[in-house]
Amino acid sequence: MNPRKINPSDLRQQVADTARLSVERGLNQGSSGNVSVRCGMGMLITPSGLATDALGPNDIVYLPFDGEAEGDLPPSSEWRFHRDIYLNRPEANAVVHVHSSFAVSLSCLRRGVPPFHYMVALAGGKDIHCAEYATFGTQALSDHILEALAGRYACLMANHGLVALGETAERALYIALEVEVLCEQFWRASLLGQPVFLTDAEMAEAIERFKSYGKRRARP
Ligand code: 13P
Ligand code: ZN
Repeated sequence: MNPRKINPSDLRQQVADTARLSVERGLNQGSSGNVSVRCGMGMLITPSGLATDALGPNDIVYLPFDGEAEGDLPPSSEWRFHRDIYLNRPEANAVVHVHSSFAVSLSCLRRGVPPFHYMVALAGGKDIHCAEYATFGTQALSDHILEALAGRYACLMANHGLVALGETAERALYIALEVEVLCEQFWRASLLGQPVFLTDAEMAEAIERFKSYGKRRARP
């Protein structure tokens, strides 16, 4: 479904549902994380500082890319990186940010996810980068994230968490969950020894296969 074609009130519900699911799937807790979807020349984004799993459609804030937020609730403190992703990545219609435990743990070592498993290619490249540290809510953090996301659908954020983008909110959440699982698997494998990494050629093949994986076949 193309979010640009659907009713903004459905989109508000979608943002609230995705935020709640991010907690139910164990990726967020308390008020951690935030979710947005592209909406015309702006975005619908979760409000700042409220429980991520208790939001209703009326709590979701509309923030134009070049203006002030509508309504009484302040937009997520991370609106800068959400906005910058939409402005720089035309394929992104949704952004999900989480503080999931294994991604956070790896990000505290300032390490991304190396090519230890072919599923790393789901994030668009042969590895997943870790964005440099900057204080939450700053333009510097947004700049670091954009750099780490180059050619990727997800990145870790040093001493903070992870961010994923997708064509839909469902897809962005799916990628966030997969990246968290990869962080856990890499951590567990590393406890037993040094994981064997796939080669550039092996990862290139996985990336190629993901281009058609799970897609409907074109009918003649
Ligand atoms: P917000 O409640 O302002 O979205 O902040 C949560 C967060 O994860 C900051 O990085
Ligand atoms: Zn955060």
